[in-house]
Amino acid sequence: MRKKIVAGNWKMNKTYEEGLSLFSEVVNMVKDEVRGNQEVIVCTPFIHLSSVAKLSQDASNVKIGSQNIHQAESGAYTGEISASQVKSVGAEYTILGHSERRAYFGETDELLAEKVNAALKYDLKPIFCIGETKEERESGKFFDIIKNQLDRGVFHLSKEAFANIVLAYEPVWAIGTGLTASPEQAQEVHAFIRQAIADKYDAETAESTTILYGGSCNPSNAATLFAQQDIDGGLIGGASLKSRDFLEIVKVFN
Ligand code: PGA
Repeated sequence: MRKKIVAGNWKMNKTYEEGLSLFSEVVNMVKDEVRGNQEVIVCTPFIHLSSVAKLSQDASNVKIGSQNIHQAESGAYTGEISASQVKSVGAEYTILGHSERRAYFGETDELLAEKVNAALKYDLKPIFCIGETKEERESGKFFDIIKNQLDRGVFHLSKEAFANIVLAYEPVWAIGTGLTASPEQAQEVHAFIRQAIADKYDAETAESTTILYGGSCNPSNAATLFAQQDIDGGLIGGASLKSRDFLEIVKVFN
């Protein structure tokens, strides 16, 4: 059975103190709600990672992730943070290819493939984000766009390496906008992604890949979204900044 995951993406929010207090609340609330094949991941700004990793130590199903890494191993890259550095503080995951990184920091699929390789080299599992813009949806070409992002970002991996990837379908038009993809729209794309994995690797790999939905997911729409056959949880932005909302979303699987 593939893993069910609810992952929070705090983005560039919370001071050090605010982040620690939010994380403590989250861990205390969710740790008894996470069942066998479920996992909760909290992706914080870099400044929080080391402290929240320590706070998460007695909650074995609550994992920590970063929101980005640099593709190089180390060296003269002022202001950047590497996979091995993120791994060294106790993180297990990193978000890669978030649409905000693609749009505001010019991250291309080719660069993202390098970041995926860097993450896997240091045993950090990528939560790899894909999704179309509003124009791409309206043009009807969104399946091609998504297939391209998969081909160039992660399908260069061997089957064994791909087993460490979590995918997140995040339609750009739904992120932070209050516009959620309907459960049917999301399911249609998730099924397409799973079929693409089956075509590239095999049916077993497709069945065991966790595919999250992200984009204005909240306590009132999470249940219907997560009830879809190919939706294995969510990548939660805004609602992950409120511990009660995040808890409600985690509890959807119970
Ligand atoms: P949102 O963000 O839930 O605030 O729409 C999701 C994301 O960007 O991962």
